[in-house]
Amino acid sequence: MPATLSPILKQATPVEAVSGRGAVLVDVHGREYLDFTAGIGVTSTGHCHPKVVAAAQEQVATLIHGQYTTVLHQPLRRLVARLGEVLPAGLDSVFFVNSGSEAVEAALRLARQATGRPNIIAFQGGFHGRTIGAASLTTSGTKFRTGFAPLMGGVFISAFPAAIRLGMTVEDATDFALRELDHLLQTVSAPSDTAAFIVEPVLGEGGYIPAPARFLHGLRERADHHGILLIFDEVQTGAGRTGRFWAQEHAGVRGDILVTAKGIASGFPLSAMAASTELMAKALPGSQGGTYGANAVACAAAVATLEVIEEEKLVDNSRTMGQQLLDGLAAVAATRTDRVRDVRGLGLMVGVELWAEDRRPDPSLTAAVQRNAIDEGLLLLTCGTGNNVVRFIPPLVVDRAQIDAGIAAFTRALDRALEHRPAGASS
Ligand code: PMP
Repeated sequence: MPATLSPILKQATPVEAVSGRGAVLVDVHGREYLDFTAGIGVTSTGHCHPKVVAAAQEQVATLIHGQYTTVLHQPLRRLVARLGEVLPAGLDSVFFVNSGSEAVEAALRLARQATGRPNIIAFQGGFHGRTIGAASLTTSGTKFRTGFAPLMGGVFISAFPAAIRLGMTVEDATDFALRELDHLLQTVSAPSDTAAFIVEPVLGEGGYIPAPARFLHGLRERADHHGILLIFDEVQTGAGRTGRFWAQEHAGVRGDILVTAKGIASGFPLSAMAASTELMAKALPGSQGGTYGANAVACAAAVATLEVIEEEKLVDNSRTMGQQLLDGLAAVAATRTDRVRDVRGLGLMVGVELWAEDRRPDPSLTAAVQRNAIDEGLLLLTCGTGNNVVRFIPPLVVDRAQIDAGIAAFTRALDRALEHRPAGASS
């Protein structure tokens, strides 16, 4: 009997992909789609960038698996050297695994071993992965946490300055979130028990909400004051996604541990954790590793990815195309303010928050827009703790014409969804 794919897996679109090039994906019927999902922010250099393809093909024919707890290999050495050129100053030691979740787990282990403290503080609406440790830090939706308790102990959740959801200004939300963190440190997790804060510089799954700079500075100050480590989860925001190489640069705040994945290898499974040599030295040697970490083909693809990002100035492109996308979507929103609550983002990480006329989150309108967009030849994802944010994450190679085409397709998808919704309907 033929097996079937488990229904555990849920797909956002019915598209069956066959090939891809740049920002375009082609399905089994030969239909082309503008791919503004980029494999959830992974295909930074676009689908099948020729340089990435060539590097991977060459590596496949040379050495596929140079198991890194057994032997070293050249692509790994080259990647360490190349990453050294882009990592934030002081984070000069790198460790590799395969997925964002695993890199988050690696950071948790390092933070606990280095400080000898048990607790981790994460922030409301954050997404850090699906393995049990990472899921324990994740509060962007109960579906990532429910039905498999108990989760990892020693995790405490503090407020994130999500101004709209809190019904506050960004300034007030920032004050509130920092006050709540102080309260948590005073009443629940003593600083002497707290190993780390972990935060996304732009909330991803949780709704594409950039963390205000003052909030990140507040975390840094408290971390310094109490000897707590600051972990930046740049799994989604790294490698140029937000118009700077790392999103933490927008606020000018450096973390003690950086976790990244997705965009660094253009689609090959590779993730990294970076910290200072001094901090890494506090981990127990051999306490981390894995069978597939730093796969030679993935490392070769990552080196090529970093070269393409530099040569094609993709961080700048992310900034300028991101601005064009933001401006275009803001113009669309301006005439539909009753249903479009907010357009926001950094670089090519842009979210459009949709509300019902009663000013509650409208997840069904959001789902309808995403579905309609597929008919318009545009692939989009959604996010947000209320499932009411349409998210735009095109590859960093996207061009002006594609951005305009994406905005036009989104607008048609939105208007079609609104037409079928009688005034006053809330979902
Ligand atoms: N952290 C963040 C910020 C993410 O966006 C994701 C993936 N969406 C993860 C961690 C987990 O990465 P992975 O799915 O590769 O395990």
